[in-house]
Amino acid sequence: MKTIRINEQFKEDWVRVLNHIANLFFEDSKIVTSDEADMHIHFNYSVGSNFTIHTASEMLVEGKTYTSNYSINYETEGSEKEQGIRMKRALSHVMLDVLEQYTGMTQEWGILTGVRPTKLFHKYRKQGLTNTQISEILKTDFRISDAKIELMEEIVDRQLKTIPDLDTIGRDISIYIGVPFCPTKCAYCTFPAYAIGANRKHGRVDSFIDGLHIEIRAMGKWLKENNMNITSIYWGGGTPTSIEADEMDALYKTMFEAFPNPETIREITVEAGRPDTITPEKIEVLKKYGIDRISVNPQSYTDETLKAIGRHHTVQETIDKFWLSRNSGMNNINMDLIIGLPNEGIEEFQHSLDESEKMQPESLTVHTLSFKRASEMTRNKDKYKVADRQTVSKMMDMASHWTKENGYVPYYLYRQKNILGNLENVGYSKPGEESIYNIVIMEEVQTILGIGCGASTKFVNPETGKITQFHNPKDPAAYIMTFEDAIEKKVEMLNDLYNVQLSK
Ligand code: SF4
Repeated sequence: MKTIRINEQFKEDWVRVLNHIANLFFEDSKIVTSDEADMHIHFNYSVGSNFTIHTASEMLVEGKTYTSNYSINYETEGSEKEQGIRMKRALSHVMLDVLEQYTGMTQEWGILTGVRPTKLFHKYRKQGLTNTQISEILKTDFRISDAKIELMEEIVDRQLKTIPDLDTIGRDISIYIGVPFCPTKCAYCTFPAYAIGANRKHGRVDSFIDGLHIEIRAMGKWLKENNMNITSIYWGGGTPTSIEADEMDALYKTMFEAFPNPETIREITVEAGRPDTITPEKIEVLKKYGIDRISVNPQSYTDETLKAIGRHHTVQETIDKFWLSRNSGMNNINMDLIIGLPNEGIEEFQHSLDESEKMQPESLTVHTLSFKRASEMTRNKDKYKVADRQTVSKMMDMASHWTKENGYVPYYLYRQKNILGNLENVGYSKPGEESIYNIVIMEEVQTILGIGCGASTKFVNPETGKITQFHNPKDPAAYIMTFEDAIEKKVEMLNDLYNVQLSK
């Protein structure tokens, strides 16, 4: 743990932001008031005429001093909230600079610690700025590297090609349906994923599915009554192919009966992430309903790694199930890879890319391992040996080159806290095969109605973009007890959000 003493009694939210910046450099760090700290940073800051903010920092560490100065001019005074944001950014700027000087590291994402960098790009684009103007802001105000700015620009362009009405799609809705079961729980997982065997024994799978039918019908009723259009539907979880083929069949039947104008839905995806859940019967059910976009997730092509992360399936099974799906008519298959899994380095990742090359899935999502607070992997961090920052960054570059060479384009990205090497997750696809759902959820351009276990509903106000959330319970037992209340609450929130808007 690195302790950093700063000169000021800054407001809590300022300290929090500065702590985020410090965490980009050190595994763990804390802003303290004690003189006993590992490093001392003295900040100066002021607001001059023309709303110009000046900040400066002087860091003393191990007998050496590092300094930084920064000024930024704004055209308007801005609201009190905006002024606060501007000041936090300007302080982050000079803090990042002295820490980069001291550690010799370069933070490619600069002071940006948020989850959705491309959302920022879209925000400036909607304000009428050109790509050149946006790039300049991202570089000078946020210190983002040229390579990451280029990546953002490419992704934003691709998103607009995939969804030309991206800026007006806010009046429509997308749907997420959560099935909280998996064959076993992976070590890095924090999703609502419960072992299906034990839950089946206790009757919770049946009760959950009964509840899910009711919730789908109730939400469908509201959507029909309010003439809503559905853009995309995503079945996630858990692994929604963990349940039996006839259970899937009945649920899809309910979905198509309950939802309005199913023929206008642009995309339906079913996660079949765990290859050990895929069977010919389940693929037949998907085909029966015209669903051909699924995810078959290898994560790694090294058996020892799969064992270490508790996947309980083999590499060969991934390959076999991919070909079974492909040869049975699944035309849009996504595969996920994770960079930085335990004991994996360049060699293992290259092997994963070589294997992916043989299959050429329509999309490949490259995740960087993140230590999520509630995962088994984080609780037992010492047990897992993961690659260092340089190796992780090299693997990310390998993915970028490999995808280019194999005709993929990046189309969405997001970042997470505690992500290895402070990198990102990037979704690549063959042109024209991008997932609409992944774009709308990442860019927060429309309401995502969450149905089922662990499903979050994100209500996005079509006029203002303001977001409010509602979370269905994660645990199947809690869901069974409370899903009727969740329906009621969501209908209330939807009425508030849309009825007013739609009646304008
Ligand atoms: S398959 Fe996915 S949802 Fe299921 S336990 Fe593994 S990571 Fe979690």
